[in-house]
Amino acid sequence: MTISILKEPAGERRVVCLPEIAGQLAKMNFEVLVESGAGKEAAFSDESYTASGAKIVSRSAALNADLVLCITIPSETDLATMRAGAALLCVYQPLINKDAVQHFCEKDITTFSMDMVPRTTRAQSMDILSSQATVAGYKAVLIAASNLPKFFPMFMTAAGSITPAKVLILGAGVAGLQAISTARRLGAVVEAFDTRSAVKEEVKSLGAKFVEVEGAAESAAAGGYAVEQSKEFLEKQKQKIFESAVKSDVIITTAQIPGKKAPVLIPKETVASMKAGSVIIDLAASTGGNCDLTKNNETVVTENGVIIIGNSNIPSTMPGDASKMFGKNVLNFLKLMLKDGQMNVNLEDDIVKGTCITHKKEIISPRVKDALAQQTK
Ligand code: NAD
Repeated sequence: MTISILKEPAGERRVVCLPEIAGQLAKMNFEVLVESGAGKEAAFSDESYTASGAKIVSRSAALNADLVLCITIPSETDLATMRAGAALLCVYQPLINKDAVQHFCEKDITTFSMDMVPRTTRAQSMDILSSQATVAGYKAVLIAASNLPKFFPMFMTAAGSITPAKVLILGAGVAGLQAISTARRLGAVVEAFDTRSAVKEEVKSLGAKFVEVEGAAESAAAGGYAVEQSKEFLEKQKQKIFESAVKSDVIITTAQIPGKKAPVLIPKETVASMKAGSVIIDLAASTGGNCDLTKNNETVVTENGVIIIGNSNIPSTMPGDASKMFGKNVLNFLKLMLKDGQMNVNLEDDIVKGTCITHKKEIISPRVKDALAQQTK
């Protein structure tokens, strides 16, 4: 059986698997094909893949494999060249990209979308959303620090004293907690908000202050994710955030509710009262942003001098380790199905079932099935 690693489109510097993962697949008796130049942007040459046991091929040969691996969904032209009965693993947001789901069913392509891996303890080692959010949370702090006209740590020098930067983190999930640790390591004074009380102790153990707003809705059924809040709560929270925001040098926003538009926690009135030179990194830019003024994949400088950065593919700016973690997640997932040079799409396994979107012309993932059924109602 052949497994291929595609080169990502321009602008995406990561690669789905580094040579070490290609080597492990080769050792499992698969013929591993790598599109020439696939690892170049992440600083891995074709030769490093060859040394791990893979074969360098053209794009059309890579697209002709039994199992095609990539991060970005291939273009329509590329997909048209894939064989019926082949399999594709990528990240294609099937809950939004519903046309693609129908297309894969019609073409009899088995698809796995890595953003659909269930967030369970057993699936942690396969969770690309968590690994890539870790990269984003870390790098967001560095981007903020390099845009801030002042130091992060406190200094007592012969040239005077420097007070530490004040950093506010909104949402203390995977990205938020990583941002807290990184900002603390750089010596900033950090405050964090979240609607889930479960994260309070974790925030405090990282050396940040947890700011509580009473009356947040929580649900054990949400599986560790947040739920939507009432209008009254959001208004109360906006007021509390305003009080912290006007004192902050940096705000990193990470608040999300799966499948919904990101909650707006920083209205334009709050931005208008912030200090000139302060920086907002809005990690939720692709789902509408946690700040009113965020523009997806753009940097906005407001009239009062606040910089709002809405880069929604931060992991691509750190392609080496982001690809390393991504590939390890992919391998751990594939190990549920691959053995001795063969693939068995075992739908009895809840992780495979949740991540497999289409197989043998049918929709498999219960979440995608429900979403499409709702649409036709
Ligand atoms: P997560 O679900 O682990 O964390 C989100 C946190 O936000 C949760 O702890 C949740 O309780 C909290 N939250 C929800 N509503 C809130 C509210 N009203 N007030 C305060 N907190 C609230 O998600 P994650 O994996 O950490 O990802 C966070 C965000 O970063 C997502 O929007 C994700 O898409 C984005 N992301 C961006 C990039 C990028 O490059 N920009 C990369 C990876 C992830």
